This record gives sequence, structure tokens and C-alpha cells, in this order.
Amino acid sequence: MDYQEVDATREFVARLEHGGDWRAQIEAFAADEGIASAFFFGLGAVQDAELAFYDQDTKEYDSIVFEEPLEVVPAVGNVSTLDGEPFAHTHVALSRPDGTTVAGHLDSATVFAGELYLRAFDTDLVRERDPVTDLDLWNL
Ligand code: ZN
Repeated sequence: MDYQEVDATREFVARLEHGGDWRAQIEAFAADEGIASAFFFGLGAVQDAELAFYDQDTKEYDSIVFEEPLEVVPAVGNVSTLDGEPFAHTHVALSRPDGTTVAGHLDSATVFAGELYLRAFDTDLVRERDPVTDLDLWNL
């Protein structure tokens, strides 16, 4: 396990914009505020969602698209730098009217309403391609 100590520097609460993309709004906010590392969680609802599941054998993401209203219960994620830009690695559990859930790695989702808490750190977390998993992992 690789690790480094970080200090929390700033905290934010935010309301996501109706009709915008859940992840892209977090990335734009991070870029605007100069945030290079953070953890966040959020809750709310989306109008659709595209999740992705990483196939560990083929080392590719398989897309799963949901064209339906879903509650975000919750979203958790972090912000780090990928290819020079903020990347919001985001996982979600999404619930349906009958209380069942789908979950996974969030690629995109259209926000119906969303509330976010984010804590930023004093370091620049950078993602680099990991040869073992073929994923872009933190270079600690
Ligand atoms: Zn993921």
C-alpha cells in the first residue's frame, strides 16, 4: 500500500445545477477553485445515468445506461488530476421507486437536484496508468 499524509485545506457545500452533468459540474468546480485533490459525497436525484463496470479480464469498462429517474443515495468520490485536468472519480448507489438499487462507477448523469459536500487537500494527487490493472491510479 502506498500512502501520503494530507492536510485538509478547504471545505465546500454546493448545489448542483438542474439539467447539468453530475460529474462534469464537480470537475468544472474543481478547476475554477484550483482544487487538485479532494474527497466528496453527495445526494439528490438524477434523470438518467451511465454507469461503467471495469472488466478485470479484458481491462475495459462496460457501459450500463439507465434512462429513468433515480435517487442518488449517495454519491462518493474524489478529485485528482488526470491528463492535466481535474477528474472526479465517482461511485453511486441509485435507487428506483420500489426501493431497489443499481450501483457502480459513474460516468455521467443528468442532475435533477443534487447536494454536495467536498473537502479539499493541500496536495496535487495525480493519476497515472498502472501497468498491472491498466487503470489510471494515484501516483503516491
Ligand atoms: Zn471507479
